[in-house]
Amino acid sequence: MNIVLMGLPGAGKGTQADEIVKKYDIPHISTGDMFRAAIKGGTALGLEAKSFMDQGALVPDEVTIGIVRERLSQADCEKGFLLDGFPRTVPQAEALESLLADLGKRIEHVVNIQVEQDELIARLTGRWICKVCGTAYHTVFNPPATAGVCDKDGGELYQREDDKPETVTKRLEVNMQQTQPLLDFYEDKNVLTNIDGQQDIDKVFADIDALLKGDRG
Ligand SMILES: [Zn+2]
Repeated sequence: MNIVLMGLPGAGKGTQADEIVKKYDIPHISTGDMFRAAIKGGTALGLEAKSFMDQGALVPDEVTIGIVRERLSQADCEKGFLLDGFPRTVPQAEALESLLADLGKRIEHVVNIQVEQDELIARLTGRWICKVCGTAYHTVFNPPATAGVCDKDGGELYQREDDKPETVTKRLEVNMQQTQPLLDFYEDKNVLTNIDGQQDIDKVFADIDALLKGDRG
């Protein structure tokens, strides 16, 4: 089962990825892990990627795609894999198609966890941190007894720049603009399925599971 998992920040992709790889016993391949492994392994491509990263530069597609090819060629991917964070662009998706064709594989499912923007903003802006002890609260998932005050020491709670509504909204908008062409690309290939990510976490996984089971026969 070869899967690409997509979803905006806050959609709950990490949780679902964990469940999918556990149930289907396939490796979870995230871009970050792939880079770290290639660098640690000292492969030619890993070192090349590192030289860009050390300069704070973006790793060029041809290097990234080379690393993806090496990773997907490994034995543990024979049963399938779950790609997470790659591809990010249509050119990367096209490169992925052709490298998979070389390996006699193809993407069977692109699972997109869909959550409304308002809900994502609520999830992503809920984090408040105690100035005194650093305890993190969430206005929805883990609220303090009194708004703005730490339960442990009465310290004042503050929001990190990254968690503020303006920053979160901008980040989501950039992300949506980048993702849409990729969703269109996979829709055209008839492999895209949108999953309602606003349901209970277990129900989200049940929907994904039903989809994936569908073609196991
Ligand atoms: Zn505190």
